[in-house]
Amino acid sequence: MNTSPQVLVIYTGGTIGMVNDPQTGSLTAFDFGDVYKHIPELGRLNVELTTHAFPHPIDSSEMNPEWWKEMAELVYSGYHQFDGFVILHGSDTMAFSASALSFMLQGLKKPVIFTGSQLPIGTIRTDGKENLITAIEIAAAKDESGNPRIQEVAIYFEYSLYRGNRTSKVSASSFEAFRSPNLRPLAVAGVHIDYTGETFATSGDLELFTDFDASVGLIKFFPGINWEIYASIFDVKKAKAIILETYGSGNAPSDQRFHELLLEYLRSGGIVLNITQCSTGRVEQGKYETSSFFEKNGILSGYDLTSEAAVTKMMYALGKSAGNPVLAKEILERSICGEVTL
Ligand code: ASP
Repeated sequence: MNTSPQVLVIYTGGTIGMVNDPQTGSLTAFDFGDVYKHIPELGRLNVELTTHAFPHPIDSSEMNPEWWKEMAELVYSGYHQFDGFVILHGSDTMAFSASALSFMLQGLKKPVIFTGSQLPIGTIRTDGKENLITAIEIAAAKDESGNPRIQEVAIYFEYSLYRGNRTSKVSASSFEAFRSPNLRPLAVAGVHIDYTGETFATSGDLELFTDFDASVGLIKFFPGINWEIYASIFDVKKAKAIILETYGSGNAPSDQRFHELLLEYLRSGGIVLNITQCSTGRVEQGKYETSSFFEKNGILSGYDLTSEAAVTKMMYALGKSAGNPVLAKEILERSICGEVTL
């Protein structure tokens, strides 16, 4: 009887799956069925791998909620067959996808590990081999009682495992491309993999919800922001919710035009969520005069949400509440899967 853990590796695209085409000299996606040819070390892992490649691998800039749905459905349909899942994904939007899947797959009790690389797997100095091999080990890892070590959606990159919905891409060139600024890593890989971080597990069965609503606007503040340029966004028929990326602990200028637009938008049923541009720390509405307007007028605090988690949580809340803003706000005020410190 085969007792090796079973891991499903889903290849969506991105740099990791590229090799140099000797004919053209440019990088092209390799046939993922040939993965053992490129990483023979995989054959030495005590893990039984099944691979599934998207028919047309994408650069992750092309990512959208339809692709998230496809990934989540693959995990859901293989949930009882596999011990864990690895999703190979371009690093550019990996933090959005990992956040999205954490909301789509609630009640998860098995690992879903995103990874990718800065250099293609077919190049000599690639970071892709280590990332993939360790991501598979983590996806297969069990504790002394036989329970999966990780029971959530996470990102493994350059020796660190992060909670997916706490993570941002911070470097376009360093191998250490990701950070989880407000939560320490779930695990660190050295000679051994140290699972020392806070882990997340829920009670209840796995539930799949993929009906995201992307009618979300995101405005990043900067000194001199001209509200006439943004005025058309404040229309619930276009954007059911707006996320404001404000300064510091949630502060914004007390601009008359901005306040008018905001109040009218709120009156017509729009939802507004306040997150900070800072990568560490949190929104504290009312701490300064410049954020007390938000506090008094029902703007929701995003506390320490990353913008990736805020956008995907908003899409989830709008979809789940099916047009009921009261319900959507209730969802936004809770921690759904460890994405926020309340
Ligand atoms: N542009 C690539 C992508 O995100 C970069 C990468 O894979 O790291 O698909």
